[in-house]
Amino acid sequence: RGHVRFEAVEFGYDAGQPILKGIDLDVPPGTTLAVVGPSGAGKSTLARLMYRFYDIGSGRITIDGQDIRAVTQDSLRAAIGIVPQDTVLFNDTIGYNIAYGREGAGEADIAAAARGAAIAGFIERQPEGYATRVGERGLKLSGGEKQRVAIARTLLKNPPILILDEATSALDSRTEAEIMETLEAIERGRTTVVIAHRLSTIVHADQIVVLEAGRVVERGSHADLLAHG
Ligand code: ADP
Ligand code: ADP
Repeated sequence: RGHVRFEAVEFGYDAGQPILKGIDLDVPPGTTLAVVGPSGAGKSTLARLMYRFYDIGSGRITIDGQDIRAVTQDSLRAAIGIVPQDTVLFNDTIGYNIAYGREGAGEADIAAAARGAAIAGFIERQPEGYATRVGERGLKLSGGEKQRVAIARTLLKNPPILILDEATSALDSRTEAEIMETLEAIERGRTTVVIAHRLSTIVHADQIVVLEAGRVVERGSHADLLAHG
């Protein structure tokens, strides 16, 4: 599950003003695609098209062979988890923030969820020791801590497809590296799209595409692109 394809995708917010041009992508299930490029290149737009936040002008986007126009919004939401750049948290506990919107979760579920499986691996790795702070209120979290909570929240949904839309771009490079390395360690097997403006953000990717002014100008492996700088 989680095979994403773009076939000759064109999109513009306004008629006659194309933002994405002739985008072809093939992201096999369980692999990681990195989309790198300068601000304004169209990276976030590309991510939003995947969950039909906007409808494309022409071309086709499929998930597991199905045109996303034929898939209900609910199943798209279930299939795709997104972590945005800036996370606004509720002034509540880490557990509450992680479980928010996960229907039917009670206090115990929330605590369990926050400690559960991959998420616990994510949280407990941190030197701050989140596992013991899951129920604490009024936390003052750093930007990096907030993004960790946001990622844990998205992983709790266990979507086949995970999109990190500049999820670590606002952080210092050390914190960014720590988060990306943790994710890389626990996230094998999930189709992942990492959007970043710096190539250095990419710890691991099966393929990298460089987007500039709405076009793919380069694509290759991590080693290929690092070799070119
Ligand atoms: P990136 O993520 O690479 O920084 P975006 O996808 O955010 O790029 O933006 C690509 C282009 O689309 C930019 O020129 C931006 O101004 C424009 N754009 C983004 N969102 C909207 C919108 N909601 N309405 C109109 N134009 C938009
Ligand atoms: P859930 O639907 O389980 O609460 P998410 O928290 O991942 O899952 O996202 C909820 C919805 O919010 C998404 O399906 C999407 O429509 C919207 N959303 C999330 N992140 C973004 C984003 N960066 N830009 C635009 N919309 C977003």
